[in-house]
Amino acid sequence: MDFLIVGAGINGLLLARELANAEPGAEILLLERGECCREASWAGGGIVSPLYPWRYGAPVTALASWAQAFYPQLAMELLEHTGVDPELEQTGLLMLDAEDESQALAWAALNQRSMKKVRPEFFHRQEPGLAIGFTSGLWMPDIANVRNPRLGLALLADLRSRSNVTVREHSPVSEFETAEGQVTGVVARSEGREERFRAGQVILCSGAWSGELAATLNLNLSVEPVKGQMLLYRFPRAPVNGIVLTGGRYLIPRRDGHLLVGSTLEYQGFDKSPTPEANLSLRESAGAMLPLLRSAEPVRQWAGLRPSAPNGVPYIGKLTGYDNFYVNAGQFRNGLVLAPASARLLADILLGREPIIDPTPYQPVPAG
Ligand SMILES: Cc1cc2nc3c(=O)[nH]c(=O)nc-3n(C[C@H](O)[C@H](O)[C@H](O)COP(=O)(O)OP(=O)(O)OC[C@H]3O[C@@H](n4cnc5c(N)ncnc54)[C@H](O)[C@@H]3O)c2cc1C
Repeated sequence: MDFLIVGAGINGLLLARELANAEPGAEILLLERGECCREASWAGGGIVSPLYPWRYGAPVTALASWAQAFYPQLAMELLEHTGVDPELEQTGLLMLDAEDESQALAWAALNQRSMKKVRPEFFHRQEPGLAIGFTSGLWMPDIANVRNPRLGLALLADLRSRSNVTVREHSPVSEFETAEGQVTGVVARSEGREERFRAGQVILCSGAWSGELAATLNLNLSVEPVKGQMLLYRFPRAPVNGIVLTGGRYLIPRRDGHLLVGSTLEYQGFDKSPTPEANLSLRESAGAMLPLLRSAEPVRQWAGLRPSAPNGVPYIGKLTGYDNFYVNAGQFRNGLVLAPASARLLADILLGREPIIDPTPYQPVPAG
């Protein structure tokens, strides 16, 4: 194998696609512990923007800007190539009662983003079902959302159609083999079965589990799991026209009438069981935004683990200590929006190409 990728969430799948596009002659292997795109990349909301984007630093904005511009092309290519529509919808994002509106507007002007301050007449026209009482709003008409489980399915179908890519599910990597400053291969163990794979370049795309895996080689990579819970409602037609966000909670409409309500932020290790407390809290937030939801029953609740690197700046690059060991992880709350840029940047680094953006801020530096 030329490239061995550990983890098939959005980051692993997109990196495999980038490498397969650029190097049709290279052999690429993706090893996934469970099923592809069933962890954070399935659980997320799919907003193609950081929430409150001005509250992040320039490294997150740089990745987000590149990826937001690329998403329509990615969605179109996947639909054409696989027949699976990731349902990218440019619905706009309405942020209500953000306390730092002036910073937001300054950030938007500096980064040439479409954002305007709007008054209650505007947001009640935009969202007729909205509760009364919000006093100020920011409207970002360009923001889209993507149906992330379908994006995962489309990427998987794309990769499975390529003769130089192998995707192996139920193959948990438990160990790395090393020699002379190289990671020479990995060991995957499952149900008493043990398999060894050799590789030229090994890349960790293991989301919230990346830190644990790096630690098996005594590398200190600070990636923490942060649990997020979501609710799903089903309607004949979604009761909002666009994404609505206030107090860190949001509503996301899907094309087929589903409505997502997110999300909690919980620092509880690797536990991802849904809880009644989060159910209640999300329902209260949802009802406070859209009174119709006070009497509606969610059809589903779930949780996922966001991979959190410090300040939400992902690690993208070579890990210290090995010549051929790389990482792309730690995108935190923004892994879906940042994924196309993260994958392209790491592919640039791996293939020695001119990088799309300066890779310096993402360089993994061993913590502590
Ligand atoms: C509730 C919630 C809402 C979110 N909303 C948004 C949003 O609206 N917009 C946005 O941009 N982002 C959002 N996010 C964040 C986003 O979902 C994540 O940042 C992103 O999905 C991370 O992708 P990943 O591929 O790095 O990780 P994952 O999707 O977690 O994939 C990692 C993969 O690695 C595999 N793996 C782990 N260990 C091993 C091993 N030892 N061997 C083999 N495979 C292994 C796992 O099984 C998993 O499939 C949200 C997240 C949550 C939880």
